Amino acid sequence: MAALADTPHLAVVTDFDGTLAPFAASIYEAEADPRALEALTALSTTADTTAAVLSGRHLEGLRRVCPVQEPVVFGGSHGAESSWQSTALSPQMQAHLDAKEAEIRKLMERFPGAEIEIKPFQRVLHLRKLELKDPDAAKAAYQAGLQLDPAGFPRTAGKSVIEFSATTASKGSWIELLRERVDATAVVFLGDDVTDESGFRVLVQPPDLGVKIGEGETAARLRLADTAAATQFLVALAHARATARAER
Ligand SMILES: [Mg+2]
Repeated sequence: MAALADTPHLAVVTDFDGTLAPFAASIYEAEADPRALEALTALSTTADTTAAVLSGRHLEGLRRVCPVQEPVVFGGSHGAESSWQSTALSPQMQAHLDAKEAEIRKLMERFPGAEIEIKPFQRVLHLRKLELKDPDAAKAAYQAGLQLDPAGFPRTAGKSVIEFSATTASKGSWIELLRERVDATAVVFLGDDVTDESGFRVLVQPPDLGVKIGEGETAARLRLADTAAATQFLVALAHARATARAER
């Protein structure tokens, strides 16, 4: 904590769901502890300090549930979106998403019960519903989905889900971008989920610090039990940082 308080430029990045806010019944009911939001705001207005919220939610949805203002910065869609620039879907990325969407819709005609999910940077074929109704058809649809050309873009084949993405961004690549942008000499990243591991992996600990919230294997050096402990950590860090800067 003392080393982080003294570093020339500190960047504090936190995930939202499961880290700042306990999981809620509905996605837009998730609420962060006001003390955690205050700590983030305090960090963002302290000299030589950057505060950021980085989430799998898309940027607009993240702003809806996380009411902190600039200079806190936001990263959305697992790092594909940044609050400092308008969302960049290049013509190539858009064409790729349009092509995959058209192909998935054709599959849905061949295999009724197959579904599509539209995300800002992804088109996803979902076969869970079909699987329950007709496992053989679901298998055939899955094979057909694997035949769709990822055209050099990322494709993730999960259990009865195939996701076509137009971006290679991850929480890790976003943190690296932020580090360069603000010239951070130490980065703290807090997260609870497997998608946060890409963020932990780009850290050099120390001087950086990964903070894993809850159970599970992790590359983070520090583990905290729950969102309440994460709030306490942020409050303590904001206080330490403000005190160290004031003494300079
Ligand atoms: Mg999370």
